[in-house]
Amino acid sequence: MQCGLLGRHLGHSYSPQIHAQLGSYDYELVEKEPEDVEAFLKSKCFQGLNVTIPYKKTALACCDELSAAAAQMGAVNTVVCRDGRLIGHNTDRFGFMYMLRASGLEAAGKKALVLGSGGASNTAVAVLRELGAEVVVISRSGENHYGNLKLHADAALIVNATPVGMYPNTGVSPVDLGIFPRLEGVLDLIYNPARTKLLLDAENRGLVAENGLSMLVAQAKESAEWFTGNKIADDVIETVLGSLRRRMENIILIGMPGCGKSTVAKLLSQALGRTAVDADAELEKHACRSIPDIITRDGEDAFRKLETKVLAQLGMQSGLIIATGGGCVTREENYPLLHQNGRIYYLTRDLEKLPTEGRPLSQSGRLSELYEARKPMYQRFADCTVSNDGTQEDTVRAIMEDMQ
Ligand code: NAP
Repeated sequence: MQCGLLGRHLGHSYSPQIHAQLGSYDYELVEKEPEDVEAFLKSKCFQGLNVTIPYKKTALACCDELSAAAAQMGAVNTVVCRDGRLIGHNTDRFGFMYMLRASGLEAAGKKALVLGSGGASNTAVAVLRELGAEVVVISRSGENHYGNLKLHADAALIVNATPVGMYPNTGVSPVDLGIFPRLEGVLDLIYNPARTKLLLDAENRGLVAENGLSMLVAQAKESAEWFTGNKIADDVIETVLGSLRRRMENIILIGMPGCGKSTVAKLLSQALGRTAVDADAELEKHACRSIPDIITRDGEDAFRKLETKVLAQLGMQSGLIIATGGGCVTREENYPLLHQNGRIYYLTRDLEKLPTEGRPLSQSGRLSELYEARKPMYQRFADCTVSNDGTQEDTVRAIMEDMQ
């Protein structure tokens, strides 16, 4: 074995994709049960390993030698086998440093709250202190906890080093940002979803909001350097990040009923080799009824509630192309569901070209009135507006260019 990632459950790991772009070594996922970890490490049957929860402590104990960063952090996330000796490194330190720098936030002289007291918290605390921040750890069982956060209302930075808000338990936040009037930004070590509820709240308040993907890629870059002994330029981090973000981000299509969302989604799916899903079709499958039947028998409100449930399921996934129903923008609560992992494209099309057959909400009132009411909502949701008045191929090209 050359290199790999050691952990217990690694199904959703992005590390193989990242390392494939960082070096030409083989990179395997190695899932072990706790009782087998020590023997595996001591077998020294690898050149280099990344180690993730829950095995970072075991890795530290098995090493013959520690690098300066690993000794300072008291944690090992990278192990290299050299001349029969296991050398432990900590690349999370560099990863968190990079993330902080990428956010543009300054730590020196600022009060920073680090949520959680596990391994990642230790790294964040050490780095922030090294940079001159006053750091307070918020722990469910500590002196500073979630019940007395008001003592630290003067915080300028918040770092989330807990799993709260992580896929699949999205939509929850560890703290209410409303009590921090001097807050400048939030760093969330979670990278799936791309925007946790905590980061969406920060974004809504106009604060800096950085997710943990930059840390993940930066720590992998330094691990790759230890694996191969070759220096890799920091620019490579941005290249890998860009390709990963594009691959993970959902492409969400919104717009008036009949503006071409489903067809454009299918064409995008063919061009990008990604799965396209139609939210209305998913809803009908889930309800075992047609949408006209739900609206005429149960009313629009019941239909909208079902739609929100379907969008919650679809929005938390990654790498999908999602064609939404025309009215999904009428519920503000659908915005974070779509935005947490997605870039939202508003497809526009001349009203005369929109079909109304089989679309009860388009038929019920005048289409132009529906459009006037919804236009500001589409604009509010949209990250990018694309005209679908030309050919559908033009629309697909415009979306793909924007993604680059
Ligand atoms: P960990 O060692 O298990 O620590 C997590 C800490 O979060 C715990 O010590 C606990 O602190 C707190 N916590 C756990 N469950 C909680 C809950 N339900 N509510 C509130 N607090 C809770 O995990 P870790 O390795 O430090 O990782 C923490 C997070 O950082 C994870 O989401 C992980 O994916 C992420 N991470 C990201 C990167 C990256 O490269 N981006 C690297 C490492 C970790 P208290 O008991 O003190 O409250």
